Amino acid sequence: MLNVVIFGAPGSGKGTQSELIEKKYGLVHLSTGDILRAEIAKGSEIGKLADGLISKGHFIPDDLMIRILNAHLDMYPTANGFIFDGFPRTLTQAEALDTMLKNRNLKVSLMLNIDVDTNELVKRLLNRGKTSGRSDDNLQTIHERIQVYETKTLPVIQFYDRQKKHHRIKGTGTMEEVFERICNEIDSVNR
Ligand code: AMP
Repeated sequence: MLNVVIFGAPGSGKGTQSELIEKKYGLVHLSTGDILRAEIAKGSEIGKLADGLISKGHFIPDDLMIRILNAHLDMYPTANGFIFDGFPRTLTQAEALDTMLKNRNLKVSLMLNIDVDTNELVKRLLNRGKTSGRSDDNLQTIHERIQVYETKTLPVIQFYDRQKKHHRIKGTGTMEEVFERICNEIDSVNR
């Protein structure tokens, strides 16, 4: 089993790289952002709650997010492994992920931290906003998301540092270049 946490600020390329990893390594891609946007599209109760929070750049409460992820893990009992994209975003979520995996005799294999500087992130997100149709790809919400990332999400790096699972990836260059760096790191732990 290969379980990859793909980590990085909004706009760092987590979604794009997750799709490439999914194809090459045959893993199940769990994107909490995609799961929430699907709930919004369905008009479910979770979707209604998520809609207001996402458009402001705020997080969905930890306990709800953890329950949603736990339910999705149960949907793939025969998976070869998972890519966790957009989760964990807080220390509480990181601890909960370890517990959820442990309960299934699984563990995180490595955490890939895609590193992109803030100016580049803002540029990419504004550009994505022209076509993404996402309610959170506008200047005001982008700044809020980056700030929330810095205060709530950055501590997750130390969590994986302590477990010696943190691998920093230079996130600039072409999509293929970033993917090659990612594969090198995955292959170094997955022999
Ligand atoms: P993403 O598609 O990963 O950029 O996520 C879009 C938005 O969904 C985030 O800005 C949050 O509002 C919400 N979200 C996604 N994942 C999480 C999470 N793990 N915890 C809390 N909120 C989340």
